[in-house]
Amino acid sequence: PPTAPLHLISNVNETSVNLEWSTPLSSGGRQDLSYNVVCKRCGPEGTRCQPCGNGVHFSPQQLSLRATKVSINDLQAHTNYTFEIWAVNGVSQQSPGPEQAVSVTVTTNQAAPSPVNSIQAKDITRHTISLAWQQPEKANGVILEYEVKYYEKDQNERSYRIIKTSSRNTDIKGLTPLTSYVFHVRARTAAGYGEFSAPFEFMTNSVPAPIIGDGTNSTVLLVSVVGSVVLLLILISAFVISRRRSKYSKAKQDADEEKHLHQGVRIYVDPFTYEDPNQAVRQFAKEIDASCIKIEKVIGIGEFGEVCSGRLKMPGKREICVAIKTLKAGYTDKQRRDFLSEASIMGQFDHPNIIHLEGVVTKCKPVMIITEYMENGSLDAFLRKNDGRFTVIQLVGILRGIASGMKYLSDMSYVHRDLAARNILVNSNLVCKVSDFGMSRVLEDDPEAAYTTRGGKIPIRWTAPEAIAYRKFTSASDVWSYGIVMWEVMSYGERPYWDMSNQDVIKAIDEGYRLPPPMDCPVALHQLMLDCWQRERGDRPKFGQIVNMLDKLIRNPNSLKRTGGETTRPSTTLLEPVSPELSSALGSVEDWLQAIGMERYSDNFTAAGYTSPEAVVHMTQEDMGRIGISSAAHQNKILTSVQGMLSQMQQIQGRMVPV
Ligand code: AMP
Repeated sequence: PPTAPLHLISNVNETSVNLEWSTPLSSGGRQDLSYNVVCKRCGPEGTRCQPCGNGVHFSPQQLSLRATKVSINDLQAHTNYTFEIWAVNGVSQQSPGPEQAVSVTVTTNQAAPSPVNSIQAKDITRHTISLAWQQPEKANGVILEYEVKYYEKDQNERSYRIIKTSSRNTDIKGLTPLTSYVFHVRARTAAGYGEFSAPFEFMTNSVPAPIIGDGTNSTVLLVSVVGSVVLLLILISAFVISRRRSKYSKAKQDADEEKHLHQGVRIYVDPFTYEDPNQAVRQFAKEIDASCIKIEKVIGIGEFGEVCSGRLKMPGKREICVAIKTLKAGYTDKQRRDFLSEASIMGQFDHPNIIHLEGVVTKCKPVMIITEYMENGSLDAFLRKNDGRFTVIQLVGILRGIASGMKYLSDMSYVHRDLAARNILVNSNLVCKVSDFGMSRVLEDDPEAAYTTRGGKIPIRWTAPEAIAYRKFTSASDVWSYGIVMWEVMSYGERPYWDMSNQDVIKAIDEGYRLPPPMDCPVALHQLMLDCWQRERGDRPKFGQIVNMLDKLIRNPNSLKRTGGETTRPSTTLLEPVSPELSSALGSVEDWLQAIGMERYSDNFTAAGYTSPEAVVHMTQEDMGRIGISSAAHQNKILTSVQGMLSQMQQIQGRMVPV
């Protein structure tokens, strides 16, 4: 064996130690000399030593060193260490002895804390992000305070702001809505500041979204945010509505506005128009290296394989939670194309209410689609689990988010065709995002597929009559489906048309029957559903108008107070005639006119004696003219709503209502 290394020199720098030595006098006459480092942490005066353990790092390595130096990092501050450098060769094992090692004992210095490892956003609203983080792994002393540095992602990093706090959380207030911010946190001890953490990025909300915390305090949190939700929506709506004063009857004005909105809006490209659909995947979806993905558990079954949750850590970016859709083994070329087409579609969208694509893995198996993770899963199951727990304003907030996502899709000329609560995902902030962009192609190309989509029937209960009858899928048929989603939301995940058969549903719809308002559903919302279920697709509102309408309802919570009265969950049979309490159940004529944006005619109705809903529901177009409503558009609008009111009355009698 070799003799011991010579001239061991140590150099302590805070919690790192650099060691250097000279080669031994004798290498044992062999060429295979190398060095091993032994690290021991000791008590005072080198007593009670124990191995350093895993947290200490050696550079370039601890064993089989060829060079005569090593750097040892991540030691504890103010601690005694003994390091032994062993010279070894191929025969050292035969007769190991202390004469082959040299050692040194050092004391590390005071050191600043190590960086904070991760920052979480516990609560996000339009203007505030509540952050929380863990203490640094190596505090190296008592932490006196934390410093949070933040700036708008798109701004120059030098224009940052700093907040100091002694706790491990803070609220960053006064932020701009729908804006990404970058945050870094560092800790300070008596030894000074540690390094800033890596950047963590969070975006403020677009729609005031109440937070669902985990566990028991969620309802309290939800309720506490509602006030600000209403206020903020008032502000947005005030702006929008000051420019657009009535509901969707002002067709021309809206059409002009929509034309204007279309300018500069990208139009969606169908990946199947590409000769090689793989090219669409390359164009619209980022290829992710499989080594960046950690699959954690199975959370669902998709059409093509398992859906898992896991983590994605891209180089230079913070780790995020993701959902991972996998393509099961043994797929055909066509299945692979269909599977990846969802990513090519999703990758074209960028909106807070549309599920966000992180990327795809196509270069190795299994083929995967990686999207943002939505903690609360699909909306239908989420609502069933939380039956009755939300306020009407919260439910309208959910509907508003979905409508906003659908407006974005329709502006991009994308027709979803399978809009249903089961295809909406909900994150921990109660933000709803439209997902499931897989099936459009199946219906489009295959005449046989009108009644069989992936793995099942066309979703009859959610689909507009013209789409069922002759496959006329448009944004207007998506609006029909949206009306059904509204009904699902307001009934906390009830199955539309309950246990009726698909054939009975088609027949009932054709005969003019529509779903009644769910229990406690505001009349104004049921009216909006009925508008979405207009037989003539041109008479249905556009998504932009639905968003405005919902904003208006949130802005005026009184308009949501009026419900169908003491209705229980409806049964399938028609019931007895109108109840005497009908007027109070339906509210005043004045409220109704206000809810439909026709309050300007309040006096006309009163003067002509139409003071109760019972009187109003019998009005004809001539009656309208007679009481001074001359605009045909307004007459139509009021008559449509009168039909809704009639349906309300019938709903109080029974379950399905003809309109
Ligand atoms: P899909 O094939 O898109 O219908 O997904 C099947 C199921 O997996 C859904 O019903 C959800 O429960 C779950 N899932 C899909 N995507 C996500 C996601 N991004 N976050 C959380 N759960 C998801």
